[in-house]
Amino acid sequence: MATRWNVIVIGGGHAGIEAAWAARNFGSVALVVTNPDTIGRMPCNPAVGGPGKSQLVFEVHALGGLMGRVADDTAIHTRMLNASKGPAVQSLRVQNERDEYATRAQEYVLGTAALDIVRGEAAALERDGDDWTVVTTDGRRLRARSVVLATGTFLRGQTWYGRASRPEGRQGEPPSRFLSSTLERGGHVLKRYKTGTPPRIRADSVRFEDLMELPADADPRSFGGRPGPRAASTPTWQTYTTPRTHELIQDNLHESPMYAGDIEGLGPRYCPSIEDKVVRFAHHERHLLFVEPDGRETSEVYLQGFSSSLPPRLQDELVRTLPGFEAAVVQRYAYAVEYDVVDSRELTLNLESRFLPGVFLAGQVVGTSGYEEAAAQGLVAGVAAARRAADLPELFFQRAQGYLGVLLDDLVLRGSDEPYRMMTSRVEHRLLVRQDNADERLTNFGHVLGVVGESEVERVGAKYARIESGMAALRQQRVNGVTGDAWLRRPEMSLADVEALGMTLPELNRDEREAVEIRVKYAGYIERTKRQLEAEASSDSVELGDLDFHAVPALSLEAREKLERARPRTLGQAARLPGVRHSDISALLVHLKSGK
Ligand code: FAD
Repeated sequence: MATRWNVIVIGGGHAGIEAAWAARNFGSVALVVTNPDTIGRMPCNPAVGGPGKSQLVFEVHALGGLMGRVADDTAIHTRMLNASKGPAVQSLRVQNERDEYATRAQEYVLGTAALDIVRGEAAALERDGDDWTVVTTDGRRLRARSVVLATGTFLRGQTWYGRASRPEGRQGEPPSRFLSSTLERGGHVLKRYKTGTPPRIRADSVRFEDLMELPADADPRSFGGRPGPRAASTPTWQTYTTPRTHELIQDNLHESPMYAGDIEGLGPRYCPSIEDKVVRFAHHERHLLFVEPDGRETSEVYLQGFSSSLPPRLQDELVRTLPGFEAAVVQRYAYAVEYDVVDSRELTLNLESRFLPGVFLAGQVVGTSGYEEAAAQGLVAGVAAARRAADLPELFFQRAQGYLGVLLDDLVLRGSDEPYRMMTSRVEHRLLVRQDNADERLTNFGHVLGVVGESEVERVGAKYARIESGMAALRQQRVNGVTGDAWLRRPEMSLADVEALGMTLPELNRDEREAVEIRVKYAGYIERTKRQLEAEASSDSVELGDLDFHAVPALSLEAREKLERARPRTLGQAARLPGVRHSDISALLVHLKSGK
């Protein structure tokens, strides 16, 4: 096997595999992972998508990424969430066959000629001229022009089961003990975050007949256009906490490492543990829990909403307070994990370390939470690392392009004091950047980046030409003197209703018909938003270059400090920094115009 590659990716989680998969388009890649059997493993819930996250998966898919394909192939339950709420927030969520997800991901990764898997624990990164050397704990020296670090929750990972704690990257896997020091020596100031996972329950100990069943969509959708063979083959279920659950938690809070003050790491506010929910929302009589199978012939179920770091013996008791779980047997106990993260503001918009040029970081190690956020960053870091290795110019995503742009912009310019999770509410122009038009927004950019081929560009172009011809057909036909598009804009009318009036459309598939409806119904709003975005884009086209902010006298002290730290590339990015006001932007503009 070689000892030098264009790119080395460290970590085979959702960020790492996406980085390696994207980077393979440009040349040789090594994926260094402690245990190759864990590549693509889902350490938390066996599900992909949901609000804010499905949009990321569609975007990753439009950019040639893996997550949508693997999720489609292994889906066992599919639902379109927010189906009644309008296209801006509609989100696909699929439940996956958990072990098969990892197997399928491994098939993709291992079946790629340009990609070598190296078994080992990366211990240090050393600068070597224009290259980096990754040193493993067993003394191997692996060289590459650029490196992507995607080590998840493993850096100085410490798991907690009640007040008992041990060094682990996640349940049953050793932590990454040495890499944090390399980052610290390089100048990064690391933070501690924590996240938790619920208990897994033996399926044959659950009384499913006492739970509320949630059927899958009868006509399942997919990320890649073709639902997998078992996409609607199993239901999921719901149950609730009871007064006894709450009482037990309140009585035993001193056993929680969070409440006892043992854990210093900050957890995700939007994904609280059951202890947090019972304490913070004490006025809620009960909390909804989702019971999710990990496969069609499931042997265990996942209790979504019941993350905990209370001790195992208490978990046995707690689980049995839930309707349907009176005789439940816990197969794997809930736990919390604490780990080191890099402050995302110490990275560039391509996720490159500002202190270690050529080292890119992606996923949980950057302070995000979730498979989808990790995958999206992996793709960005993988492409950027590979383009660097191939001496290609640097290209950047824009906030206005969609969820991926917002994720990068938020992480790098604003930062986050807790594990960052994508949500639809973080995105300003949700009706413009929907899951259904990710391909329209990103295919061409993916081609420019070098990860989308010519035939895909043509396929997507033809799709949108058909949609356009459907819209034109509506504009050209009239019934009772009213054009087809005006009929369709009436809130009560659907495309089928318009056809029932006698109007005809060219042949379109289901996705294309929906796209016609959305574009016609929301045309006014979409047009207005596009104009607003064009105005904003003009400030994003004003480059700041390596402007010395100390030389701009009218800047406030706070703004100067924030600008120096974040080093935004454009005026638009500067305007989005917290602490930078309108008056500061005017000062920058005046300074730029004066040409000093
Ligand atoms: P990971 O999937 O963690 O992958 C890291 C990879 O790096 C692994 O393959 C590991 O073996 C490898 N690795 C690490 N160090 C080294 C090294 N030095 N050398 C070689 N290989 C190395 N997400 C949510 O959205 N909500 C939640 O509530 C939630 N809770 C979670 C709870 C727990 C306990 C855990 C473990 C995860 C949780 N997740 C949750 C997070 C989700 O699992 C991650 O966001 C996602 O897996 C991150 O992907 P990643 O690629 O960054 O890292």
